[in-house]
Amino acid sequence: VPTGRKFFLGGNWKCNGTQDSIKKLVDDLNEVEFEEDVEIVVCPPFLYIHQVLETLTKRIDVAAQNCWTGKGGAITGEICADQLVDVGVKWVVLGHAERRHFMGETNSMVSRKAAGSNLTNGVVCDQLQALVSKVPDWIQVVLAYEPVWAVGTGKSCTPEQAQEVHFSMREWIRKNISEDVASYVRIIYGGSVSSSTCNGLARQPDIDGFFVGSAALNTKEFVAIANSV
Ligand code: PGA
Repeated sequence: VPTGRKFFLGGNWKCNGTQDSIKKLVDDLNEVEFEEDVEIVVCPPFLYIHQVLETLTKRIDVAAQNCWTGKGGAITGEICADQLVDVGVKWVVLGHAERRHFMGETNSMVSRKAAGSNLTNGVVCDQLQALVSKVPDWIQVVLAYEPVWAVGTGKSCTPEQAQEVHFSMREWIRKNISEDVASYVRIIYGGSVSSSTCNGLARQPDIDGFFVGSAALNTKEFVAIANSV
């Protein structure tokens, strides 16, 4: 990874966990050693964010898995970006393939979320065009390329296939956003990443980290992936 793009690892816990199992996961994370030069973020379900913030002692940030498109108010069942900021959550995942699939989220909703939050930090999919004019500050954004056929299926991209897509995303950014953004924006790969596939992927010049689902629920796996830098 060229200098300036710190390796990024997101652990997406999705709709998994109980107070007890999350306590165990956090205890395990608190005990292990991570490489210095990797930035780590875990994404618990909303209900457990507080528990994780209170108990994580490692330098690991916490992300929400979603947020509302704008300010809070009469929107039953939603959580807005200002509320995430209020409780100390610095990141939010936007545009995950599962939200598009189960909740019908569209590119336009995702871009409104990215624009409407003053926490534009996010891990987003590769629907870049919808975001171009909306993202206020690219330095706060991490892009995730996740082929839908690889998410939660145990089938992962080969390093070469993934590198090809990451390279073309970066080229697209160079032409449509700027040279600068293309050089610093981190593009991470997601889709059945495991300890056995991470090393080859991490060696690719345009893969700047991972977004991990099922392997994030197993601390041994998660640490092996973090240490594949
Ligand atoms: P997976 O999930 O690692 O279980 O495929 C990836 C994701 O959450 O995007």
